[in-house]
Amino acid sequence: MNDLKKPQYASVEYPFPLEEEPVVFCPVCGTPTFDFEDGGNMVINPCQCLAFVFLGRPPEFIYQSKGFKLRTSEKDLKGLTAKEMKSFIESLGYDNKFLTLEVTYGDYEDDPDWYTDIYGFDYGTYC
Ligand SMILES: [Zn+2]
Repeated sequence: MNDLKKPQYASVEYPFPLEEEPVVFCPVCGTPTFDFEDGGNMVINPCQCLAFVFLGRPPEFIYQSKGFKLRTSEKDLKGLTAKEMKSFIESLGYDNKFLTLEVTYGDYEDDPDWYTDIYGFDYGTYC
């Protein structure tokens, strides 16, 4: 596949330590992927572009859009790791209107610790 037709992949590493988990905003429509409830709990706030949110530890999808679920219905998502995500997304048939954003940050909550969360944005759903 021509590289220009491949889904895009970007990595961001926040300076250490980060006091609070970063809130990622959709690069297309600007919607924050998470909202804060009264009391401070973070709740998913998906816009139409958000295809998935994958937390690195434990490795799991905490959000999947209908379109993403359709594309992955034949795939085995159990055991998928952050390191495998780029090739996994490329295997789903998305073109360059898809951006995978890998966000790495760390804190001192237990010991110095790093986390990688991954967000998928499907620009093809935006109109
Ligand atoms: Zn959006």
